[in-house]
Amino acid sequence: MAGIVIQDLTKVYGDSAETRSAPPRAALDGLNLDVSAGELLVVVGPSGSGKTTLLRLVAGLERPTAGRVLLAGRDLTGVPPQARNVALVFQSLALYEHLTVEQNLAFPLNAQTWGGWCSSLVNRSAATSEVRARIVETAQRLRIEHLLDRRPSELSGGEQQRVALGRAIVRQPQALLLDEPLSSLDLPTRRTLRRELKALQQTLGVPTIYVTHDQAEALAIGDRVAVLDRGRLAQVGTPSEIYERPKSRFVAEFFGPMGMNLLEGELTDSGFEISDSEGTLTTIRLPADCWPQDGLMDGRVFVGIRPEDIEVASSHLPDTTCSGILQSIENCGESNYLHLRITPSTTNTRTTNNTAANIIVRQLKPALHVPAPGDTVCLRFRTDRLHWFATDSGMSLVRCDH
Ligand code: ADP
Ligand code: MG
Repeated sequence: MAGIVIQDLTKVYGDSAETRSAPPRAALDGLNLDVSAGELLVVVGPSGSGKTTLLRLVAGLERPTAGRVLLAGRDLTGVPPQARNVALVFQSLALYEHLTVEQNLAFPLNAQTWGGWCSSLVNRSAATSEVRARIVETAQRLRIEHLLDRRPSELSGGEQQRVALGRAIVRQPQALLLDEPLSSLDLPTRRTLRRELKALQQTLGVPTIYVTHDQAEALAIGDRVAVLDRGRLAQVGTPSEIYERPKSRFVAEFFGPMGMNLLEGELTDSGFEISDSEGTLTTIRLPADCWPQDGLMDGRVFVGIRPEDIEVASSHLPDTTCSGILQSIENCGESNYLHLRITPSTTNTRTTNNTAANIIVRQLKPALHVPAPGDTVCLRFRTDRLHWFATDSGMSLVRCDH
């Protein structure tokens, strides 16, 4: 296939095992991923999860401890970076300050064609005009034609990042690797460049791995999203699959502006009993038809629900799940996020102020009624939107065919 195939890729940094009491943790641990020909795969994960390590291994800047990378069917093991035909763009730009934009764009081409120029001076003008044509085409694609004579110091951050992208694609690489390419830019520029980059990648049709720690960016631009957790693949799927059907608590909590609410407890005949090591807080109403399938749950479980899947009202709602006391409101422009504590039952004997029943609810604006801190409100969960997770492994209790 014309894409990138990553097989059992593992990287353990450092090799002086005798100086350590415990073996070092793998920065990347048995990763398997395919990126098809024109695909934009976003790799997302918290800081230190192995994203940069993955790109450096694909680019050939690090040697894997185990596993291999194939590009267009060719095993890249042992192939030096310059012979891989892979372009890597970093967050921190590496433009040559003393060169103009045009010279910066020409640099990778000159390096590529240098051998040809030396061996045949006759072809030199042909090579030069080809270089010039490529530069103009690339500059047009990135809308930087008017900047060709400027130096990097005379450009805005967004323009500099366009030039860096131009330098990556001017050589017509077989794969594009982008390591947090927009994270040093302001938000409006980031949004614009994100859309442009997606469109550009589609026209180029090259397999692309785009690394970010920003969950919203990952969902916005990825054809598919791969989630890394401490060097391991937590889940890979389309943005909808990742958001709607997270396979684990880790993925569930990582995505969404406020993550996902998780309540720990046990399913009983009367509903879901929220409890922790300090005892029971209250029982909330969750009808049996939304429970995980028999045999998949065992004793204690987490129920998960996103803030947008909870309805809130000041007066009684039919099919109320529970009530809550408003602690604070976070105003996020188009929505308010209400931070609540689920009202404890009257028989609750807890003495400490626990966090077992904190819950966040999204209230879209304009809202008919915005409660004030201290108010008690009714909450209704969309019970077709519940998620269930095992308390020990954190894995989803719903089968993949759900
Ligand atoms: P990310 O890009 O997701 O933030 P990295 O790939 O940079 O993560 O790092 C993954 C892990 O590998 C981290 O624990 C980091 O400290 C470690 N690491 C990265 N580069 C090196 C290195 N050159 N030497 C030793 N450890 C490293
Ligand atoms: Mg990184």
